Amino acid sequence: MPRLSSTLDHLAFGAATFGEGQEFRRFQYRFTCAILLFSILITAFLHLAVHEGAAVLDPVYARISQGYLLLSLIHYVILRGHPARLEAIAVSYAGLSLGLHGCTLVFNTPDELRIVWFILNLPGVYLVLGQRVGILVTLVSLAFVLAINGHLAAPYSPSAIFTFILGMSYLSALLHAFTARSISFHHAMVTANRQLAEMAARDPLTGLMNARAYYARCEAALKLARRNGASFSILFIDLDHFKQINDRHGHEAGDIVLKSVAAALSRGLRDSDLLGRIGGEEFSILLPDTDREGAAVLAEKLRHEVEYLMPDIGGACLPITASIGVACGDGASGGVAEVQKQADAAMYQAKQAGRNRVTCFALART
Ligand code: GH3
Ligand code: MG
Ligand code: MG
Repeated sequence: MPRLSSTLDHLAFGAATFGEGQEFRRFQYRFTCAILLFSILITAFLHLAVHEGAAVLDPVYARISQGYLLLSLIHYVILRGHPARLEAIAVSYAGLSLGLHGCTLVFNTPDELRIVWFILNLPGVYLVLGQRVGILVTLVSLAFVLAINGHLAAPYSPSAIFTFILGMSYLSALLHAFTARSISFHHAMVTANRQLAEMAARDPLTGLMNARAYYARCEAALKLARRNGASFSILFIDLDHFKQINDRHGHEAGDIVLKSVAAALSRGLRDSDLLGRIGGEEFSILLPDTDREGAAVLAEKLRHEVEYLMPDIGGACLPITASIGVACGDGASGGVAEVQKQADAAMYQAKQAGRNRVTCFALART
């Protein structure tokens, strides 16, 4: 069943993709495709009924309706799978529909209810083209009906025209308020969602990515490396004897150290590198397109920077050091988790070898 619905979905809307926060645009695109499809189907059904003798149409109007069917089909084919064409297609189709409703009013006189089409046209115009076009279509529809009514073979009565004006005005005002509210509500939701996602991904102390966000970004960044077979490296950085800093100088001093180390690490990286705080005093760095030698050079530079950072913890400048494990992977070998484990093992070797040093995973095994 889900497969059938996704096949139907693809058939109706094509392969159209929308970015984050584009839910409303996605709705507008699908809504327009659906309206076009619906118009094509009901117009085709009407002509089938005429063909089978179940309905009668004025011959001029039947031609106009066939033209409308063809033009709707062309609009749909142009739009399907191309959301960037939405505005142009929607404007063109709004004009086409207004023209058809005008012709319906003039030619399809046996249908007493045909004036209703002007009213039914409004929701789609407001939702897809917005309030200004909505007001314009409302005014054009009212002006056209008022101007043409006296010339119709069977004009609408003044009270029918009054009801029509009331109906158009009421629906237009309602849609005006509704679209304004729903669009601003949608934008507020998108902004709030973005802020929540941002908050959920950040470590509040250092402002770096937290472990979950960091590993997710690593996986995304490495998809490309896997395809190209490019090498990447991971640095695992653990501060030395950090517990002692907390014990001797207090937790707040420890926090200052963590913040200044995070800032120092960020300064030393390229835009494409990823840095996350993955534990209390543990940081991980993903270096795309970097082999083990390049990673070891950077690790040594970062180790040196931490050593000479000497953060001011309120009166005293504290010497701190870090042990760094380096591991390297490529498209063929293991993923982020495995290389992170190797960097972890290398860091452990650095601790055992006396701390304040860089150890590479391959070297750790030999
Ligand atoms: P080693 O050299 O072997 O890595 O020793 P260490 O003391 O750095 O390692 P250990 O894992 O024993 O201690 C880590 C400490 O980090 C323990 C914990 O209280 C502290 N810590 C974790 N998160 C925070 C934090 O957000 N702020 C502060 N101030 N301390 C933290
Ligand atoms: Mg640790
Ligand atoms: Mg430590």
